[in-house]
Parts: sequence; structure tokens; C-alpha cells
Amino acid sequence: MLNVAEIRKDFPILGRQVHGQPLVYLDNAATSQTPQQVIDVIVDYYSRYNANIHRGVHSLSQEATDAYEKARITIQKHFNIQHSHEVIMTSGTTHGINMVASGFTSFLNPGDEIWVSAMEHHSNIVPWQMLCERTGAELRVIPMNTTGELVLQPFYEELSERTQLVFCNHISNALGTINPIEEIIEAAHEVGAAVLIDGAQAAPHIKADLQALDVDFYTISAHKICGPTGVGALYGKTEWLEKLPPYQGGGEMIAEVSFEKTTYAGLPHKFEAGTPNICGGIAFGAALDYLNAIGMDRIAAYETELLQYATSELLKINGLRIYGEGTNKTSVISFNLEGIHPYDVGTLLDQMGIAVRTGHHCAQPIMDFYQIPGTVRASFAFYNTLSEVDRLVEGVKKAAQMLS
Ligand code: PMP
Repeated sequence: MLNVAEIRKDFPILGRQVHGQPLVYLDNAATSQTPQQVIDVIVDYYSRYNANIHRGVHSLSQEATDAYEKARITIQKHFNIQHSHEVIMTSGTTHGINMVASGFTSFLNPGDEIWVSAMEHHSNIVPWQMLCERTGAELRVIPMNTTGELVLQPFYEELSERTQLVFCNHISNALGTINPIEEIIEAAHEVGAAVLIDGAQAAPHIKADLQALDVDFYTISAHKICGPTGVGALYGKTEWLEKLPPYQGGGEMIAEVSFEKTTYAGLPHKFEAGTPNICGGIAFGAALDYLNAIGMDRIAAYETELLQYATSELLKINGLRIYGEGTNKTSVISFNLEGIHPYDVGTLLDQMGIAVRTGHHCAQPIMDFYQIPGTVRASFAFYNTLSEVDRLVEGVKKAAQMLS
């Protein structure tokens, strides 16, 4: 069992009030809150050793470089990655996906196929559409069913040697579904396609073993796992990272530059042009240390408890429908009240101090599939409590009364 009362003391923001009520923060799928241990690391960096990395001989630069590279190793170990040079520091998941999409431009031809799932975040759709426009490749979609699960049969049947890339999120941000990525990766590899898994929503709940998954690329954002915004990582298998051209040109990513010719630095620096988010990277490592000290398995077990309780309590409310009620899911509940716009529910909940997200959650195709304008999404983290679930349920009941 988690000692949630103790854990909550680590998060200063959870003590604040909103509209005169104690904050209930249930927008964790959008961004998670930051524990004091990570805030301290950020303050310590700017107070004691703020310096540019990799190129300085002075002590501050060396301290900052050591801390930044230590964070890379922390990420490597957390995701069981074989080599630290396979961890590319990025500004977040979107950046990592765009790096790969841009890199594949020279590998694709008209008639090639890229598959994405029907439940992707826009950041996992648009870069592939842009790649298709550049190359003449075709975008294919793995469909989903009404319980919010992928339907893999058409994908299995139509995979072919034309398939070059397969793209799927590990967990859907809009529905919370945990996708069967092991099967998708295996099927794609059988036809020689590369697979990129978007782990943005999985990282807070699941410690993915990237060697066991045998995935080609995996992306994460630090701000979903108690780290700061504007930093993340792209994992890529060495063979792919060596083949892909650099995404951006600039300092740090070169071996030698002359006006006649530039040669690129080795991995990971080839993909890390310019001054990175040094403090953010160090804090990203600290966030993983924080989560590991609690234990990812314990976090997942407790979040499942929150999910089950919230699901059964919310379903008692008349006219409430949950989208994506499949069995294999994380602590995300997307719902609507019959005949009531999600935005109105979210606005009233905010007045009660309860932070949820409303809208299409950057996943418009899912909303089109259900023929709805959006949903109210409550997403739980390990620092939420059962009594916060009660506040949500009471709030939704009140909103339903006021709006119907
Ligand atoms: N993919 C998924 C599944 C997400 O939930 C998000 C963030 N909502 C992203 C990608 C994009 O992440 P970021 O904005 O940190 O780049």
C-alpha cells in the first residue's frame, strides 16, 4: 500500500485552493504535478552550477555535464535500454516523433505504407501525414471498436512488404486504453517495418522494458512523470539512429565543420543540436528517481484501485456514459452526461476546485468515431485519494442537476 498522505506532502501545489476550495487535481494525463524533490533539483541547478554543457573545461560546466549525462543513464536504466547513446534528449514526445518522421523522408517512396492507430494523439497523426505528403506514402489506420480497443485483424491482413512504419501509442490519452503493443511490434517486424511507440501516457503508469519489447523507437515526455515541461526522450535502436539523418543542424551535433563539408558527431549528439534544456534534463532524471523510490508497481496498483472506485461511483450517476470502458486500461476516465456539453461540466467542476480536462484531448478522430464534440476527462495519479474521487462524483452530480 502507498502512504498517500505522506506522498502528498511532497507536492506543494496540492495544498492550494481554487475558487476557495481545496484543489482536486485530476488532469494528470495532460501534465503531472512536481514533487519538492524535483523542484529542489531545479533550484539547486540554477543556484549552484548553471553552465553550458559538453564544451567547457571549467568546473561548473563539468558539474552540469556530469549531472545531465547522469540523467541520461537514469533514463536508460529505467527503460532497460541497452546503450546510453540510444537515449536522445528531446523537448518532449512531439519533438521525438517529428525527429523520426523527418528522418524517414529519404527512406520512403510512393506506394509505401505507414500505419497509425485510430486512437492517436494529433502529435502522432500530423507528422505522419506531413511525411506522406513529402514522400507519396499512404497513411493507413488500425480501426477501433466502441469499447475503445484496437481491432487488429484488418491490420494483420493488410500488412505487407509495402509497410515501412507502424505507429501506435502505448496508452491512449483520451481513453486510457493500454494497447497490445507487443503484438503490433511482432507483426510489423515480420514484414520488416519499423515501429514507433508513443509512451507519453504509459510512462506514468508502466515501466516499459524496451529491450524486451524489441521496439525500434519509443518516445516520452518528462512532464507526464513528475518532471518539468519542455524535456523528454526518444529511444531509438542504434541501427536506426545511425541510418537516420540528423533532424536539426547546429552546434553540438557536429564532428567537424568547414564551408566545404560538415561531418556529424556520433550518437546521441548527432540528434542534439544546440544548447539543450540542461536543467530540465537533470530534473527529468530526478523525477524518475522519485517514482522509482516509490515503486512503479505500487503506483500502478494504487491507480487501478482509484480507477475502479471512480468508475463504479461515476456509473451510478444517471445519464453518465464512460468512453473506452475496455478492461485493459489505466486511470483515465473519459465521460459525458447525456445532453450536456462537456465544457459546461468542466467549468462547473472548476468552480468547485476540481481540475479536469474537457474537449477532444488532441484526439479528434476518436471524438468523430463516437460522434461527440468531446468528453470530460478525469485522470488520476498516485497522489490522488479516494476522497478526491468522492469530491469528483459529488461535483458531477451537482453539475448534472444544475445543467439539466
Ligand atoms: N502523445 C500522447 C499520447 C500524449 O498524451 C501527449 C500529450 N498530451 C503527446 C503525445 C504529446 O506530448 P508533448 O506535448 O509533451 O510533446
